[in-house]
Amino acid sequence: MARKGSNRARGQGAGAGTPTGASAAAQPERSGQGSGDLVVFWTLNDASCDECGAELGRGSLLRLEGGRALCLSCADLDHLHFLPRGDAALTRRAGKHSALRAVVLRFSRSRKRYERQGILVEEQALQRAEEACLTDADARRARQARDAERRTLRDAAYVASFAERIGELFPGCPESERNAIAEHACQVRSGRVGRSAAAKELEAAAVELAVGAHVRHRHTGYDRLLASGIDRGEARLEVAGMVDGVMERWRGPARERVPGRRAKM
Ligand SMILES: [Zn+2]
Repeated sequence: MARKGSNRARGQGAGAGTPTGASAAAQPERSGQGSGDLVVFWTLNDASCDECGAELGRGSLLRLEGGRALCLSCADLDHLHFLPRGDAALTRRAGKHSALRAVVLRFSRSRKRYERQGILVEEQALQRAEEACLTDADARRARQARDAERRTLRDAAYVASFAERIGELFPGCPESERNAIAEHACQVRSGRVGRSAAAKELEAAAVELAVGAHVRHRHTGYDRLLASGIDRGEARLEVAGMVDGVMERWRGPARERVPGRRAKM
């Protein structure tokens, strides 16, 4: 009876703003009610609080105590936060850190059983859980970054050796172009010649293909021919002599720069 009186006073006055003390006082009584978590019900119909008379619309949360329906305020649970189901890790952690918690159940008419909608947990527990989960996310991001870095280093090493091989086969190819060809040819996931098994062995043929493609695009009018609608095979034929010429020059020792078109690239 004394408890009922104090709850009514809280419900009618400004008590909702100072729930902590009341909650702590009420806790032992509740934990004695049974094993496991408290249970709170998600209402399917309009109801009202048997303690303070507050209207509890459909979808409100209420607690049954001794056959009476109580709003969360009267049940001293209104300081808890509803954490909807769906994030298993967050739910597990928040539940672990929350001294007081409740399971939210809703009756499924179609399945004729109560189903868990989430849990009510203390604010600090939810914060700790969120921090822990964020830390996990950070750790995951950091690991991904490390993996990416390793990949980058591996690719960088590969690009360097590809460029070096170009230098061996085409000493006359300007260094900046060697790097451009190697980088282009090695682009991750590109499926271009640079990633083929043969190119990984840095076989001459693969390097020649990469250099040839570069020369065709950068040192001939090939792209312009394609843009004008000329058939690709025809365009290739048309520039083949020019491509061969540049490659032949590059096979020789480094000397004069390749004239002409490069400047505008
Ligand atoms: Zn109430």
